[in-house]
Amino acid sequence: MTMRAAHLTWPEMKRLADDGAIALLPVGSTEAHGPHLPLNVDVVIAEEVARRVAERLAAAGRRGVVFPAICYGLTDFAAKFAGTVSVSATATAQYLQEVLCGIASHGFARIGVLNHHVEPAHFKVVHEAAKAAAARCGATIVVPDHRRRPFVERLGDEFTRGGSHAGEYETSLVLAAAPQLVREEVRRNLPELAVDLPGRIKAGARDFHEAGGPEAYFGAPARASAEEGHRLYELLAGFSVDQLLAG
Ligand SMILES: [Zn+2]
Repeated sequence: MTMRAAHLTWPEMKRLADDGAIALLPVGSTEAHGPHLPLNVDVVIAEEVARRVAERLAAAGRRGVVFPAICYGLTDFAAKFAGTVSVSATATAQYLQEVLCGIASHGFARIGVLNHHVEPAHFKVVHEAAKAAAARCGATIVVPDHRRRPFVERLGDEFTRGGSHAGEYETSLVLAAAPQLVREEVRRNLPELAVDLPGRIKAGARDFHEAGGPEAYFGAPARASAEEGHRLYELLAGFSVDQLLAG
């Protein structure tokens, strides 16, 4: 069973820290993800990756404890869609840094930050906040970045070509972890939107409308499957554990 910090008492947490457990902090966003997925997609994904990371750590004789997720972040690209809540880079960085130092202050010497809100400016803030917190608090803080080569190629074509937002990739991950949250009727009928999102962002697009995604999705949600989602989670969890134990 996954150890969740939110469900433990302080003496139980103290024992875990004293035993050298690795703290895991899932990071997501509250953001529009097409007409077929809910706002908390990135949180669902980050928490499921964290759960599987903790499982793998346990199998390797280590312990992992999953802290409550960060559910808000820098989310400018979807800011115009109802329900999306964006927090500035400065505030997000400060908040993350405080949370990480709060965890470290109780003796957790190694912390893994599992970020699955991949908006480039947000991911940059996560890396910077982790670095600043590590310098300030002395803990080792690892941010596995699944966008990096060569690992990213294993996540499939769509992820690198721009469907990393609410397309086949993310929809498969939600179908595997929380299928009840997917609007199946809508999903099955969504046409593919083959947009190079990273390319459009580099070319200056400032939001999903400008990037060519008027419904806040890219790629091919209709091609998604739970099976592909499980395959992706195993890859992401394996990659994260490798990074966590090496970093
Ligand atoms: Zn997302």
